[in-house]
Amino acid sequence: MTERAKFLIEKLCSEHSLELSEYKELILARDDEVAALLAERAREVRQRHYGTGVYVRGLIEISNICKNDCLYCGIRRGNSEAERYRLTKEEILECCDEGYSLGFRTFVLQGGEDPYYTDDVLCEILFEIKGRYPECAVTLSLGERSHDSYSRLFTAGADRYLLRHETACPVHYARLHPTDMSYDGRMRCLRDLKDIGYQVGCGFMVGSPYQTEDELAKDLKFIEEFSPNMCGIGPFIPHKKSVFAEHAAGSVELTCYLLSIIRLILPTVLLPATTALGTLAGDGRERGILSGANVVMPNLSPHSVRTKYELYNNKLHSGSESAEALAELESRLSKIGYHIEYSRGDQKDFFRKEGI
Ligand code: SAM
Repeated sequence: MTERAKFLIEKLCSEHSLELSEYKELILARDDEVAALLAERAREVRQRHYGTGVYVRGLIEISNICKNDCLYCGIRRGNSEAERYRLTKEEILECCDEGYSLGFRTFVLQGGEDPYYTDDVLCEILFEIKGRYPECAVTLSLGERSHDSYSRLFTAGADRYLLRHETACPVHYARLHPTDMSYDGRMRCLRDLKDIGYQVGCGFMVGSPYQTEDELAKDLKFIEEFSPNMCGIGPFIPHKKSVFAEHAAGSVELTCYLLSIIRLILPTVLLPATTALGTLAGDGRERGILSGANVVMPNLSPHSVRTKYELYNNKLHSGSESAEALAELESRLSKIGYHIEYSRGDQKDFFRKEGI
């Protein structure tokens, strides 16, 4: 390992910040030895704040109907072969009931941008979940909405919101999205969510088409400056009916490397080992955790719809990816020295920082 790589890692550990050009250098310095040192440092930091617990979130994929046509996504509007579904309020509540009895204390409602879910519909669902399970956190991941809409949903009980920025480079953003979506619009949403008081998650795909070290360095600088409470990164995986069907998938190794860097930038960030990571490698989730991740999001959706929420080819939805298989997840985690942590798992110090 070069002295320069060591210097950059030590600087990152002590200052939680690098110059844009230094992030690029660190990405380019990747080899097994540098990755191992970064992961070791990331695990130390993660264990200082979160011990060896891994938070679990019950993921409910409420709809695969989407008005957007993101070029990379399997549930894009233009995929006429997708078998569409949406869950009713009752079905969503049944998922929460099941999740609660399995031990989940966070529910993540994720879906395409489906116009059926107006503010009124979502507020009713939120009131009902929070009425039944006041001690649980609800995370929404339903795409771009107005400031007013985000405010109403927050007032109705939503605690957290995941909206990946997808890329921190406007030119790259335009190459991944149709012309009716904009980088500025995405950034506006992220700022609104933070101003309103949500715990906010951003993130991006590793290995998305046209991404180079320059875009990745910008992503890291953006993450440093935006300072999200959560950060979802996973490898890009092609979907057979998307514009990028022939594009290669992202790399598990690079994803893990970036997870370690993000842990060192934001020591208390909630960092999932994503389904995409588990899809590309049988031990992907474990490798993510050993790189500094501290969250997993098993699938709580009804079995009848799990294969329909197909964002990319061969997306995992069974085995320890599935909410019912917590025992399998626990045994896999224990083999690497970790365990499931069932509490609702807010970011350490979030409430103190926010003065709540
Ligand atoms: N509609 C909401 C939104 O856009 O935030 C939530 C659902 S969206 C499908 C969730 C995330 O899936 C996106 O932010 C994107 O990063 C990821 N995703 C979509 N297609 C993917 C692919 N082909 N490979 C990996 N991740 C993908």
